This record gives sequence, C-alpha cells and structure tokens, in this order.
Amino acid sequence: MVVMKETASDAEIEAVVERIERVGAKAHVSKGARVTVIGAIGDVETDAAVGALGLEGLPGVDRVVPILKPFKLASLQFRHGEQSVFEIGNAKIGGPYFALIAGPCTVESRDQVLATAEAVKEAGAAMLRGGAYKPRTSPYSFQGLGVEGLALLKEAKERTGLPIVTELMDARDIEPVLEVADVIQIGARNMQNFTLLAEVGRAGRPVLLKRGLAATLEELLMATEYVLKEGNAQVILCERGIRTFENAYRATLDLQAVPVLKELTHLPVVVDPSHAAGRRELVTPMSLAAAAAGADGIIVEVHPKPEEAVCDGPQALRTAEFAAYAEAVRRAAEVAGKVPAGELARAA
Ligand code: PEP
Ligand code: MN
Repeated sequence: MVVMKETASDAEIEAVVERIERVGAKAHVSKGARVTVIGAIGDVETDAAVGALGLEGLPGVDRVVPILKPFKLASLQFRHGEQSVFEIGNAKIGGPYFALIAGPCTVESRDQVLATAEAVKEAGAAMLRGGAYKPRTSPYSFQGLGVEGLALLKEAKERTGLPIVTELMDARDIEPVLEVADVIQIGARNMQNFTLLAEVGRAGRPVLLKRGLAATLEELLMATEYVLKEGNAQVILCERGIRTFENAYRATLDLQAVPVLKELTHLPVVVDPSHAAGRRELVTPMSLAAAAAGADGIIVEVHPKPEEAVCDGPQALRTAEFAAYAEAVRRAAEVAGKVPAGELARAA
C-alpha cells in the first residue's frame, strides 16, 4: 500500500501507478478525503518486484506499508480508517448515512410491486428491493419472474425514483439485470461463487454481498476481494443470519458481525433481519438492534398481503405497518449517530 502525501499531484499519483503496473501488479487508486492510497496487488512474484521498486523515493509518496490482513482492498487500513460512502441514486450509504432498503422477497405482479414501492417510498425507504431471479431450496418452488420481473422493477423505479436492489444468480443474466439494478445483490448461497463475483466486479455496478449460511467474516471479506480486485470499489456487506444448532428461528442473526466488520473493513455493512427471523414478529426487534449496533442500513422484506405472498410471506412486514416500523428504525439509527438516508431521498 502506497500512501501519498496530502500535497501529491495527479501526475505524481499517475507515476506511481505506472511503476506498479510496469512490474505486472495491478494498481488500485483510492482517493480519501485527505490522502490518496494506491494498493499494489499481485502475486508473490509481483509483490517482491513492487517491494524492490523503491517507491518511497518517488515524489509525492509519503510511505509504503504492507497490508497484513489477507483481505487487502476491503481492509480498513487500505482507506486509512476512513469509511466508504456510496451514492446510489438519491441515497447515500456508509459512513454517517443509514439506508433502509425495503421491498418484497420476490416480484410477483405489477400491483404487488408498485403498491409496495409506493408504500416504502412514502415511509422514507432509501431503496427498493425485490428478486426477479430467486435462489430456492427446492427446484419445484417458484423461481422468479425473470425478465418480466425486471421490467416491473423498472416501472417501480420510474414511478418512485427509488434505486433498485435485485439479485443476480447467473452471470448469463447480467445484461438484463444491469438494465434495472442500481445495486446487484449476490445471495448467501452464491457468496463464494468466485466467477460470478469477478463478473459483477467487472460490471462496475454497486454490489450487495450477502454472508453465506456458514461463512466466517474473513471468508466474507475474501469473497468481497474478488469483486474489488476487478476495480469495482462499491461493495455493501450484508449479515443475514448464519446456520447454528439453534432451530427456533430460521437462522441466527449474528449482530456482533456489525461492529467487528467495522473494525476490519471500510465498506458499509447492512443487516437483513427478515431471512434470519423467518417470522414477522422478530423482524422489528432485530431491526432496532441492528440499527443500534451501528449498521449502515437494513434490507427488509415487505408485502401488501403477506398471506398471499408467493415466497417468504411469514417474515414479510405488511405495507400498512411499514411507516411505523421505518420511524422506529430511524430513531434507533439516530441513537447510533446515523443520518437516515431516506430523509435525503424524501428531501430530494
Ligand atoms: C433474498 O434476499 O431474497 C435472499 C434470497 O436472501 P439470502 O440470499 O440471504 O437467502
Ligand atoms: Mn426472501
């Protein structure tokens, strides 16, 4: 990691990048509020070659330091302890900004998605979620509306202005997904689908990466590195519950992941209480706990008529109760010192 001086010029930064690339390593430039850091990422051989370049002596270079963690670009050290903030449409996430992301598990119909979008927008949500491609445990379950579902999400976005978060399961579907998605969701089951991660890395669109059902935080961060390595710096991490011996709920929501990830990475961390809970009653208390724990956002399932939902109905909040829920979450986020991004969206 090459830390530039506060006074370094663009030409000096460019000269360092050029030297790094000349020995076959990849240069990742990260401009912070004060200083620019250049990550030189390669294999064991290029690492040695970069070390031998004597970059310390170049104009504008403050110092060269190794990143000791196995994850490099995701590490908090890489950003000098500064949290990343992403601007997604009118929403902001990360650093001081808290984003409430809400919507149905899956897109079922025009009425369903538009009614949900209007309700969550009205309540101050920052983004709309909804799957058109669904990872289902059973191949006999509903698999999602596919491109038809994407078209409905597009309509919801045009109506409400809400940025769209939607899942990509298969790299072969990336083109239609990119036409609609402001954030590409990679589901828990695909957290270590490394070719898919590299593909969304190359696509350059913000990514919401969900923690695998049995993944450690280090594995989550190493998976993130596959996206960042391709030059895509915008990854949002998501704790959605892990599998433990406890079976009183769908998954065990690991809220300690929030402060611990914040010690390790500069990337925003959101919590999905819905898939951990499996039932509606648990969603509000766990959302409040997540917001109070310092999460940068919550991604939650909402449906106008959960009884009729095609999937995950029992855990969906009702649109009718969503405004009260959003207000409570906003207060909890404020306790943690956050600015609710939905307010920005509403003011815009
Ligand atoms: C989802 O968010 O709709 C989903 C399928 O979540 P997960 O990948 O966390 O199970
Ligand atoms: Mn779901």
